[in-house]
Amino acid sequence: MSKRRPLIAGNWKMYKTIPEAVEMSKKLVSLLKEPTDVEVMIAPSYVLLSAVAQEIEGSGIFLGAQDLFWEKEGAYTGAVSAEMIVSAGCKYVIIGHSERRQYFGETDHSVNLKIRAAINSGLAPILCIGETENQRESDETFSVLDKQIKKGLKDFSYDELEKLVLAYEPVWAIGTGKTATSQQAQEIHKFLRNILEKTFGNSLAKNTRILYGGSVKPENIAELMAMDDVDGALVGGASLKADVFSGIVYF
Ligand code: PEP
Repeated sequence: MSKRRPLIAGNWKMYKTIPEAVEMSKKLVSLLKEPTDVEVMIAPSYVLLSAVAQEIEGSGIFLGAQDLFWEKEGAYTGAVSAEMIVSAGCKYVIIGHSERRQYFGETDHSVNLKIRAAINSGLAPILCIGETENQRESDETFSVLDKQIKKGLKDFSYDELEKLVLAYEPVWAIGTGKTATSQQAQEIHKFLRNILEKTFGNSLAKNTRILYGGSVKPENIAELMAMDDVDGALVGGASLKADVFSGIVYF
């Protein structure tokens, strides 16, 4: 099977002020000048989006947001809509990150509503799924992932999901320094692609990029990318320093 275009996506989480984000973006633009087949996306916090968009304009680096709220507009204090994100220059939006699920009450149902809003406004959603350490130890990994993917994508038809990106992020590997082995990642990615095939058909399964996330760094990216069903990475900690992140992009 020919591989899909790889995507390396940086999740800046709740880090960086505007001046820090501008400085980081300038460094990234200069470090990522060499041509590469890899698509690169960075997802700074909402408040940084416009400033970062200006810095990366014309560089080929894409912009993403870390979340959205599904309503178009209204009295929803503190919330940010898909349209607002698009108007700030985003092409991607991360949805259902385990930190949103853990600290902000994100459920498979809210994930489903958010993916609908993203798709309606032309954004490419990156749907994050992953099992906790307890779930892995009690052999629930496959059933947890099956449930997250099916509920998150409930009521979608295959032709609505052409921009979908999946990110497999085992919760026990996020920010912990523990990485799934490339064989573990491949086993899960293949399982996820099979679910996509059974649910939405062969063409969507073949074309959907499945990223791995969880303590990815320059030292382990090549091994992960060598796997048939690993199409890139969602990178947290290692995306916060320009030279480290560029080491991942140019694996
Ligand atoms: C993430 O936040 O999506 C992530 C994978 O974090 P880290 O790379 O720091 O484990």
